[in-house]
Amino acid sequence: MKKVIYPGSFDPITNGHLDIIKRASHIFDGVIIAVGNNTAKTTLFSVDERIALIKKCTETLPNVEIKQYSNLTVDFVKESGTNLIIRGTRDSQDYNFENRIANLNRLLDSDVETLLMLADKKYELVSSSMVKEVLSFGGDISQFVPQPVEIKLKEKFNNEKN
Ligand code: ADP
Repeated sequence: MKKVIYPGSFDPITNGHLDIIKRASHIFDGVIIAVGNNTAKTTLFSVDERIALIKKCTETLPNVEIKQYSNLTVDFVKESGTNLIIRGTRDSQDYNFENRIANLNRLLDSDVETLLMLADKKYELVSSSMVKEVLSFGGDISQFVPQPVEIKLKEKFNNEKN
């Protein structure tokens, strides 16, 4: 049984994240989406809201689970009974960032391996922050996020305006 952890902020989950999750779920016995409480990042959605959206968007994938964590990623990985992390890379900037984090994680626990999956061309420009920015200017985000996310994002933006 080989499970892989996909850690991230998912603020909110996008079609790019979903593509990585689906592709990983075909390679591994299980994918655990680990929603982090990253203290360095201010998020638009609470952890519970982010988890609820991920649940809705992954309910048809049988070997995908969602968990929340607030400890060190390597500790969470070990607690989950695996030693594998998967992350997505869209461009050289992502690669440099992921390379540094992966090396840091290996220093913290040499048993933990990080696998980088290349983003699909269709999703190379998609990020949670880009989606929020486009919507804040009234742009169409339907090609970048699943429908439940689009609905929740619009609700959030309308509430913030009022
Ligand atoms: P974090 O705050 O930990 O970077 P994110 O939610 O922004 O969390 O991203 C989680 C992971 O998903 C990262 O490895 C990121 O590079 C990857 N990712 C984000 N958007 C895409 C995308 N469009 N295609 C593939 N991977 C992506």
